[in-house]
Amino acid sequence: MSGVLPVLMYHSVGPVPRGSRRRAIFVGARAFERQMALLARCGYRGVTMDEAHAVLQRGTPSREKLCALTFDDGFLDNITTALPVLRRHGHRATCYVVSGRIGQRNDWSADVLGVSLPLADAGALRDWVDAGMELGAHTRTHARLTTLDKARLEDEVGGCKRALEDRFGLRVSQFCYPWGAHDDRVVEAVRNAGFEGATTTVRGRARTGVDPLRVPRVHVLNQHHLLQFWLKLETRYGDRA
Ligand SMILES: [Zn+2]
Repeated sequence: MSGVLPVLMYHSVGPVPRGSRRRAIFVGARAFERQMALLARCGYRGVTMDEAHAVLQRGTPSREKLCALTFDDGFLDNITTALPVLRRHGHRATCYVVSGRIGQRNDWSADVLGVSLPLADAGALRDWVDAGMELGAHTRTHARLTTLDKARLEDEVGGCKRALEDRFGLRVSQFCYPWGAHDDRVVEAVRNAGFEGATTTVRGRARTGVDPLRVPRVHVLNQHHLLQFWLKLETRYGDRA
């Protein structure tokens, strides 16, 4: 096996909401179902970032074909729509939650999208965890971390970790930078807060030995048809497109 372990990035799994100015982050339920089925047919097992982290840092490539599945922002449809599909195909995944917005809406991107969607409430997130999936941290308020002073930066990063751990009684070791915004100072704050891994929006397939706090991802967007999805997963197309 090669040392490649693609980390797929999703947001909402469902229809493009009426009035939305952007389509990209909404992957339709049927497209998602076909993508998860294709993964299984190609011999991939979808894993959490916690499991991917262990493999990527071990230094020796996995004998199994693995890809990590990540969902940013904690949309309610991740649990109502994506979770049954993940379970059916035996995949696991990580959902990055904004701890101060649980059960609310993704108002932080209302300007860009023109609409907002419901985020998972605590009960739905509990269902996610009970199904063997992972909760990751995505700050308290979806803040752009590179713009914050030290105290607010630490509160958004470490505060999110503590809030999720206290609320759900589990260990949260994985982080995701809102808007992909990170620099050396932000990465250091994430390390100091006790996170083992963090994903960016830098495009590319992760490889063994990757910096665990700067993991690139493969963007899966509304406009990608199934062949593109396969190319992104299996070929160098995924490292640039
Ligand atoms: Zn986000």
